[in-house]
Formats: sequence, C-alpha cells, structure tokens
Amino acid sequence: MNVFVIRGKRLIAAVTAVVLTAALAAVFFQSPARREEPVPELECDCGAESDSPVLHEEKSYIKWVDFDIPSSLLEKAMRLDIDTYGTDRHVSWIDMLAYLACKCGGNFKAHRTKDWKALVQKLDEGQTMEQLAADMEYYSYYQEAYTAILGGFLGEFDIELDDPEHPGEKKWMHQYGLKAYSPIAEGYSYGDYDDFGSSRSYGYKRRHLGHDMMGSVGTPIVAVESGIVEALGWNQYGGWRIGIRSFDTKRYYYYAHLRRDHPYQSGLSVGSVVQAGDVIGYLGMTGYSQKENVNNINTPHLHFGMQIIFDESQKEGNGEIWIDVYDITQLLKKHRSTVAKDEQTREYTRVYRFRDPVTGHS
Ligand SMILES: [Zn+2]
Repeated sequence: MNVFVIRGKRLIAAVTAVVLTAALAAVFFQSPARREEPVPELECDCGAESDSPVLHEEKSYIKWVDFDIPSSLLEKAMRLDIDTYGTDRHVSWIDMLAYLACKCGGNFKAHRTKDWKALVQKLDEGQTMEQLAADMEYYSYYQEAYTAILGGFLGEFDIELDDPEHPGEKKWMHQYGLKAYSPIAEGYSYGDYDDFGSSRSYGYKRRHLGHDMMGSVGTPIVAVESGIVEALGWNQYGGWRIGIRSFDTKRYYYYAHLRRDHPYQSGLSVGSVVQAGDVIGYLGMTGYSQKENVNNINTPHLHFGMQIIFDESQKEGNGEIWIDVYDITQLLKKHRSTVAKDEQTREYTRVYRFRDPVTGHS
C-alpha cells in the first residue's frame, strides 16, 4: 500500500514535471514568428540569449512598432508643428501622426489625404489634439511609439549661419525646427530604395534591418541625431561600425561598413558626445568578415539603422525593434550637414557649428 502511495506520488510528480515542462516550452515557443525574428543584419555584439522572456511578459512596455509613415506626410506634419511653434496654437507633429495612425489603424498605406485635411481644418477651427483624440483607444500607444522614434528630431537649437549683414562672417542664430540631419553630408550623392526587410545571406539567413545608401568611398558620414557613442569598432557583419545612442536613450543609431583604414573621425571613442550633423566617419565597404579591416562588401554603401527601446531588455536579443528608416532618410534628404576638408588633418568637418541643448554643453 505504501509502495502504491509512493508510486502514486511519483506518478503525480512525473505528470507535474511533464506539464510544467510543456507549459515552459509553450511560453518559450508561444510565438513562432517572434522566435524566428531575425537577428539584425549587423548587430552581433549581443552575447548569448538574454534573460528569460517570461520576465519580459510581466512588465508593461511596448514590444513592437511598425513605422511606415510616408515622408510626404512626415514633412506636412513637421511643417505645421514648426509653423505653429511659439503660438498658442502649437501642435506637435507626433500628436498629429498618432491621431492619423488611429484613423488608419496604424497602416499608413491605408491613410487618406482627406483625414489629414480634416485634421488641419479642425485644428484651424480651434480644436485641440487632446479634444480630437479623446476617444481614441490607441492614441497614447502611437504617441509613445512615435515619440521614441521621432522624439529627437524637432526642437530648439543654436546654429552658426552666414551673417547677411557681414559677408564672410557667421553669426549664431537660435531656432526651432528640424535638428536631425541626413547621414550623408551635403554635396555627396547617393542612391537608395526601400530595402528594409529584404533577405541577406552572409553567415545565416536573416532579414535586412536597416537601410543601405549607396555612395562613393570616403563620403563623410554624419550623425543624424546628437548622442553618445555606445559602440565603435569591428563587427563581422557591419565591418567598421559606430553606434550612437540618443540622450533620452530611446534611439540607437547604427552606421556600418565604414571605410577601410580610416573609418572614423579622429578623436571619437566609446563615450564621446556628438552633435547632430557632426562628421563621425567615412563611407566604405568593410564587413562580412571575421578579420578586421577587410573590404568584403561588393558595393560601397552606408548601412544605416535605427533601433528603439522602451525597456533595457530590448537592447539585445529577440526583443529588438528595428525601424524602417527609409521614409526618415527621405525626410532628411533635404537637410544635410555642410562639410569642408581640413587640409591639416585631411578630414572633413562641419562648416556651421551647432549647439543642441540636449547635449548639455556647447
Ligand atoms: Zn545594409
């Protein structure tokens, strides 16, 4: 009898173990699509598997964002934000875009121009975004998501511009507007198309989680937003690459395949502060090699990526969120940093100095 009871307990223990194992497996594999979520093309600094996904599920933060707002709409919303700045009618472009996302269910391929026109009209009539979005269930989600992506693009800043009254001299101007720059310096041509998500095969099959901008070797590469250098050095996918994190920590900008022998602007190292529009490196064709300083990319180009995080756990591993930055680069195409060659150092530096208040110093 005792033996039977013990066997019974063992049976219960065994069944419990099987059930627990199955439950644990279900937690790990509950989302097959997510498990297959590719490791980003270039970011391989990540160590082994990060901490348990079970823990992630318990915390509340945004796990995924699709970003497909056309550059034409980004520009219209940005213009209205800038034009109304400093008035009591100021309206944030992020709020407008969040509102429009609710209107099209977050799928901007379904966006209708009449929704934009109707919004502008309602704002003209004196309604506020708070009133207009009061009943929108997902408004705050899109607000938070788009703030993570675009939060560093508009703001006040000081820039040194040509002084019209004193030809040949410059003077500091205080402005509000677009303070993010195209990653390609002014005067340098490049070719591109929306290549986010297309497949790549070096190493193992994975999706392309960034944007390639084809240009000439040596083209000065510019910091899109001000931030702190978080990664700098060789990576077997990205070659010579640099990663810069925004001051609010939400955005990680990734610039890869930089030039052999002279990839980075001198003086840069992990921890350096860069201002938007600063030259940070030079376009090249390094990468796809475990050996350092090797050109193993066929076409010279900049790989430009943006990863956003809402929680530290999303920095590395399966929870990474990489944004389709194609429309962002289209928006920034007209906003380039002017650079000039310094004959002494043979490097390129920006012509118009810039002070971004977020960097906390000038
Ligand atoms: Zn790429």
